[in-house]
Amino acid sequence: MSSDVLSQSDVQIQHTECFINGEWVPAQSGKTFATVNPATEEEIAQIAEGDAEDVNLAAIAARKAFDEGPWSKMDARDRGRLIYLLADRMEQEIESLAALETLDNGKPYQDSLTVDLPLAIDCLRYYAGYADKIHGKTIPIRGNHFCYTRQEAVGVAGQIIPWNFPILMVAWKWGPALAAGCTVVMKPAEQTPLTCLRLAQLAKEVGIPDGVINIVPGFGPTAGAAVVKHPMIDKVAFTGEHRTAQVITRESADTLQRLTFELGGKSPNVIFDDADLDAAVQGAYVGLFLNQGQCCCAGSRVFVHKSRHAEFIEKLQKLTLQRKVGDPFAADTQQGPQVDRSQYDKIMSYIEKGKEQGATCLTGGERVGEKGYFIAPTIFDGVNDDMAIAQDEIFGPVLSVLTFEDKEEIIQRANNTFYGLAAAVWTRDVALAHEFATRVRAGTVWVNCYDVFDAAAPFGGFKMSGHGRELGEEGLRAYTENKTVTIAL
Ligand code: ADP
Repeated sequence: MSSDVLSQSDVQIQHTECFINGEWVPAQSGKTFATVNPATEEEIAQIAEGDAEDVNLAAIAARKAFDEGPWSKMDARDRGRLIYLLADRMEQEIESLAALETLDNGKPYQDSLTVDLPLAIDCLRYYAGYADKIHGKTIPIRGNHFCYTRQEAVGVAGQIIPWNFPILMVAWKWGPALAAGCTVVMKPAEQTPLTCLRLAQLAKEVGIPDGVINIVPGFGPTAGAAVVKHPMIDKVAFTGEHRTAQVITRESADTLQRLTFELGGKSPNVIFDDADLDAAVQGAYVGLFLNQGQCCCAGSRVFVHKSRHAEFIEKLQKLTLQRKVGDPFAADTQQGPQVDRSQYDKIMSYIEKGKEQGATCLTGGERVGEKGYFIAPTIFDGVNDDMAIAQDEIFGPVLSVLTFEDKEEIIQRANNTFYGLAAAVWTRDVALAHEFATRVRAGTVWVNCYDVFDAAAPFGGFKMSGHGRELGEEGLRAYTENKTVTIAL
């Protein structure tokens, strides 16, 4: 498949219904909703609009598959083997999955193909290898007893995911859940259901048993809320906005489901005066503009030491002006459209606020073309900490540049946000890098790099950016319960 010739009409849509107990079924209500191509604003397909009734059926199927097996009772190594086969299958279909992702989400096909898919496949392989390495401890307690712990699957996992990295979020959620032996009820984002549905079919084809993976597409307040309230669901893993997580926390009060959250950010990217400036410019550019700026860890507050500001701005502006925005299927496109009209409107309103509040718009600040939700890569200079663009998560291609003069000041300002997902520092001073990494209140700190992800490295937030961690061993533990067994001898 050549990326140059792909367009909406080249991509096959195979699955549009709910996937429950290994079967494709319409929503019980018969309702459907449109998923839209953000590059053309045209409808791609009608998707089953699941709600509480469909979530109930999915939860019953997942519960049965968990309680009765074979999944939770299967030898762990065999479970791992099936997860591995799913990863292999995704690799075989990498081009068509990447095309489907781009069609539904708008991200450049080259990014889907070379970033999202490889990371997702790698994540599944990482967790496949973990399946037979989940074990407890023997504990020397007082008296004549033998005491040990078991790490057991938490049970049925409800998983609610966003639209910014649809396939990758499926992998981050399924990988640890399946390795632990959980079964899953997943609600994909209403903007991007297509690849999640396709992956469910691939999971079935490689032999993951019916009922282990169930997908209910639909909207948050209906299908999503039903996942959170369902008494057969033991745990909810959610990625999205902190306000939705607050609603979910309230909604889960009756079921007391275990909750893990990966939420938003307003991550500081701090460039000291001794930094390798070319690398820092590249890091600021990628750290913000990657994925159309739709990253929870986007480096949206770039703090540059005053002495390097002019030089930094000149290089960043030059790079940004060359950024190619357009048809996400074109081979040279670096930036596609925002995911939908509501995100587009929100970002444009922040751009207006930035201008009104006195920041200097150096590049972009406007729509690109007349069709599709394209926004020119935007840099604001002269931003101060109180402006809306420096405070709120914009989730779009809007980079704010601020300046600073000394270390104490910048550590305090970097932490001056209720988020705490990620942070970066650029310096050649090792002691300074370590001090920053220690004192910044964020779940991930990058030193002289940005957006370096690995399935083995935990990711998640301090403060309003989340609860718990995904990826790595911590990500797996979030799908297990600890059981203590004590035997009188
Ligand atoms: P975004 O603004 O990025 O779409 P959201 O937090 O609104 O972020 O959405 C992330 C996911 O959460 C989506 O799958 C969405 O449908 C779901 N969601 C939204 N509201 C709720 C809710 N009240 N309960 C459960 N899930 C929800």
